[in-house]
Amino acid sequence: DPFVKIATTGAGGVGKSTFTIQFCYSKFIEEYDPTIEDSYRKQVEIDNEIIDIEIFDNYYFDWGNYFKYEFYKRIHGFIVVYSITDEYSFDKLENFLNEIYKYREVEEFPIIIIGNKNDLEDRRVIKKEEGEEFAIKHGCPFYETSAKTRYNIEETIFTLLREIRKYPFDL
Ligand code: GDP
Ligand code: MG
Repeated sequence: DPFVKIATTGAGGVGKSTFTIQFCYSKFIEEYDPTIEDSYRKQVEIDNEIIDIEIFDNYYFDWGNYFKYEFYKRIHGFIVVYSITDEYSFDKLENFLNEIYKYREVEEFPIIIIGNKNDLEDRRVIKKEEGEEFAIKHGCPFYETSAKTRYNIEETIFTLLREIRKYPFDL
């Protein structure tokens, strides 16, 4: 199928669904049912090319290993999310990356790391430099984003798409 498949992962409450919905529908959701696992589609134009994207929002989370393996195989790129207001979510990044690397042996795919809720400066507990350092250590691009103000939302997706293009996927 012709869709570029992107998956979000990261701790609960960091804004994975809000990010996805902000990107796809340009709106900010105050409350989104955390149990909804869904996929969203959007067409974008990047570097004069039309690309159909499908974003899987935390999709595979509770699945067994076999299904996870089958799912990861089909994904072209990952967005790993923490919140700049949530130390726990930053500490857990490594776990989420390890989970990806476990399946990545089989098929390569790019990963981008984002520190979301960048609009909540007064509640910040993770410095931007800490996020940057973590991302450099893992060889991933990094952005701080806000799913509320739309700050760096498109930049994140476009950077990920450009990374995905460097890999020999059949799209
Ligand atoms: P998920 O569990 O990672 O999918 O997190 P959600 O997308 O459900 O977001 C959890 C809560 O954080 C919701 O109340 C969102 O409105 C809020 N939220 C998400 N992203 C942002 C953001 O960038 N800025 C602010 N201020 N709130 C956000
Ligand atoms: Mg969610």
